Order: sequence, then structure tokens, then C-alpha cells
Amino acid sequence: MLESPELPVIRVRGLTKRYKDVTAVDGIDFDVAVGTTFALLGANGAGKTTTISMLLGVLLPTAGSIELLGEDMLRHRHRVLARINFSSPYVDLPRRLTVREVLKVYGGLYDLPNLNARIAEVCEELQASDFLKRPLGDLSAGQRSRVALAKALLNRPEILLLDEPTASLDPDTADWIRSYLMDYQARTGAAILLASHNMAEVERMAADVAIMRAGTIVDRGSPQSLLARYGRDDLEDVFLHIARNGDVAPEAAQ
Ligand code: ATP
Repeated sequence: MLESPELPVIRVRGLTKRYKDVTAVDGIDFDVAVGTTFALLGANGAGKTTTISMLLGVLLPTAGSIELLGEDMLRHRHRVLARINFSSPYVDLPRRLTVREVLKVYGGLYDLPNLNARIAEVCEELQASDFLKRPLGDLSAGQRSRVALAKALLNRPEILLLDEPTASLDPDTADWIRSYLMDYQARTGAAILLASHNMAEVERMAADVAIMRAGTIVDRGSPQSLLARYGRDDLEDVFLHIARNGDVAPEAAQ
């Protein structure tokens, strides 16, 4: 945990990623405080995954800065990586390995002490212990999501980057995973950055929401403040309003 909790654990300034013809992320700024969840919303192609990939250090920004846990990610990535983790249904884990083997490989990357005990503990919490001997490729999507989350929590991350963590899950499993994540956050003070298309999920989990369009943040605020600003009853209506007619409230906080 950080010595000084008032410091944001994620601090992003002027973050930009340009490809040849596309500006995927165009000079965005945001902070995430310890123990809070910040959500990135946006239509397909808005720049959410690109943002997360830059935070993880797997994509180099074209411009801008990223500080995680007080460290400059572009210069001292190695000091931070052991304290963060991520989960995305779009990054496939090796399917021929058993769940235990997969978790051992990833736990090994983090050089975790008492890895077998940690795997048993995290799988117990995520109700994934029954799958440990099974190849990942034999599991259902929901079961694989639990394993992906177990992988993401092995190192007890202080920052968790989640790209659509409940995509393709049935409502019951999705709800269970959200509750689990909120409980993990309450217990550990972890900060969560969540990219999601599920508005109910964002309303439930996130204290702050940024709405992205074409690589920029066009509005941001708590779910309640966004509902009030657009005079809507739920976040889905706010999202559709911004996505469809491009009309952002004049008082939008960018
Ligand atoms: P989705 O909701 O569909 O996952 P997203 O908000 O995560 O979308 P990104 O994947 O970040 O969007 O993509 C942002 C933009 O950058 C898109 O226009 C995409 O086509 C473009 N893009 C992403 N990766 C590359 C690449 N390697 N080369 C060129 N353009 C790219």
C-alpha cells in the first residue's frame, strides 16, 4: 500500500497513441485514487483497450506520461509490474495446460513465495478449486473467467486493470464476479481501472466514469453526476445520448 494515500495511484497526463492513420488515444488525463474504481466507457474503437495496454506497459505511448504507484511507467516499469495485474477475456491463456499449470507459469513470472499455497487460496476464494486439474480449453467461458481472475489476483495487485471482466458471462456469474471484485477492493484498498460496455456494472462498481470518443475523454464524473447532467435515469441512456447524437453537455467535465 502507498505511504501517502492521498496520492493518486494512477496518474495519466496527455496520454497519446498514434498509429500511421489513426490516433487511437488523443491526449487524455485522469487520476485514480487508492481504493476506488475508475471506469472507461466508449463505443467500439474509442480507445479503451489502447489506454489499458499503455498502462500495462505492453504498448508504448506516442506522447504523455503514466505514473503508477508513484513511479514513472515509461522509465521504471520494472518497479511497478509486480504490484499490478490485469484481466481481459480477449487475452487467451494457454488452453492445453491445466489450470494449475497456467497459474504456476504466471505465479512464477511474479516470483511469488509459497506459490502452491497462494494458488490454492485464490482458487478457493474464486470457487475454482474444482478445475485445477482440468485443461483450460475444456472449461466453460464462465469457468475460464474465474481462472483469468485468479491469475490476475495471484500477486495481490494494488492496481487491477480490467478490460470487460464480465463479457460473455451469464448474469449470475457476472454478478458474483463484480461482488468478488468489490470485496477484494474493500479488503485490500486496490484501485481498479475498468473498461466495460455494461452500464449497470459501471454504475455499481465505479466512483468515477470517463466517456471516451475517438480517443478523447468527452465527459466524466460520478455516475450520479452524469445522470443529473444529462437528465437521464440510467447510464445506458447517457451513453446512447452521447454516442448517437454526439451532443455533450456544455458543462461537461473534460
Ligand atoms: P472496443 O470497445 O471495440 O474494444 P476500444 O475502445 O477498446 O474498442 P481500441 O482497441 O483501443 O478501442 O482501438 C482504438 C482505435 O485504435 C481503433 O480505431 C482501432 O482500430 C485502432 N487501433 C488499435 N490498434 C491498432 C493498431 N495496432 N494499428 C492501427 N490501429 C489500431
